[in-house]
Amino acid sequence: MELSLEIKPFSFELVKPLNTSKGIINKKEGWLLNVQDETGKNGWGEIAPLNQHEMSECENLLNNLEKKLSKRQLEVKLLKSSGAFAFGIGAALAEIESLIDLDINNNSSTWLESAFLLPTDDSLISVLESKLNEQSAKDENITFKWKVACLPNEIEKKLLDKILNRLPSKARLRIDPNAGWDRKTAKDWVDYLVNESKLEWIEQPLSSSDLEGMTMLSKQIPIALDESLIDYPVLRQTWKSWQIRKPLLEGDPRQLLKELNDKVGYRVISSSFETGIGRRWTQYLATLQQQGPTPTAPGLGPGWCPNTPLFSDHPISVWNAA
Ligand SMILES: [Mg+2]
Repeated sequence: MELSLEIKPFSFELVKPLNTSKGIINKKEGWLLNVQDETGKNGWGEIAPLNQHEMSECENLLNNLEKKLSKRQLEVKLLKSSGAFAFGIGAALAEIESLIDLDINNNSSTWLESAFLLPTDDSLISVLESKLNEQSAKDENITFKWKVACLPNEIEKKLLDKILNRLPSKARLRIDPNAGWDRKTAKDWVDYLVNESKLEWIEQPLSSSDLEGMTMLSKQIPIALDESLIDYPVLRQTWKSWQIRKPLLEGDPRQLLKELNDKVGYRVISSSFETGIGRRWTQYLATLQQQGPTPTAPGLGPGWCPNTPLFSDHPISVWNAA
C-alpha cells in the first residue's frame, strides 16, 4: 500500500506556565502529520516531545522521511524510532488500518471528568477552594493533582496539611514530585501519608532509575510510575501498581490501545498538552481506561491549553490552524 505524507509544524503557549521540579513548561512545539492511503483515507499524527534533545532528533527523522512510501517502509521507520516520533507515525497508521475510530466519542461535551491540576504558586489554596466551591453543587468526587518538589520541602509539608484539611472525604489527591525527591524525603512523606485515605497515589517520587527505592515505598502506599516508564519501557509490562501513561511521549500507541482493549488494569492516561489531533487519542484511550477494571480520573490537564481551533475535535480544523 502506497502512502503519501504531509507534515506541518505548530507551536502554542500554555495559558499559564507550569512549574515542575524539572523546570517550567510554558510552550509546546512540534509537527502535525497527515498520512493518506491510495483510497484517500486519512490518518493523523502529532509529534511533540517535551525535551529539546528529542525535538532535534524528531526534526532530523522528519527531514529524512520520504513524502511517498509504502506502509511497510513506514512501519520499518517506526520500529527504529521511539517516543514522540513513534507516537505520531503509529497514530496515523492505526487510523489508516481502522484499528480505532477516533471520531466516535470525540465530542467535547462527552469529555471525562479529569483530575484537576493545581498550581504550584501562591494561588494554590485559593484555586483549590474555588474549585471545591464550584464542585460542591455537583458532588465531591473530585481528584486533584499537585506537583511538589518545586518549593522548599518544609513549605510543601505545611501546604499538604492545608490541602488535606480542605479536601472533603470523597475527594482524592495525587502528589507528583516528578522524580524530584531523594529516598529520605520520599520516606518521610510516605510515612506521613501512610494512613491517609484521601491520597490516591504518589507519582514518580524518585529518579527514574531508582526502581529499588520505589518498590520499597510501594509496599507502604500506592506508587505510580511515570518518567520511569518512558526511560525503561520494559516496566510497562512489569510494574504492577499504577502506571501514568502519556500516549504522546511513550511511542507507538497501538501497544497501549491493545493493553486497554485487553482490559489490563492500573493504567492512567495523562496529557502532555497536545493539540486537538493528539487529544483525540488521549481522550479515546482515557475513555477505554474508564471502561476497564480500574477506572479512575485521567490527567487531561483541562484549562492549560488555549481555546483556539488548534484544539478542535476535527483534525482538518487543527491542521488548518497550525
Ligand atoms: Mg507525572
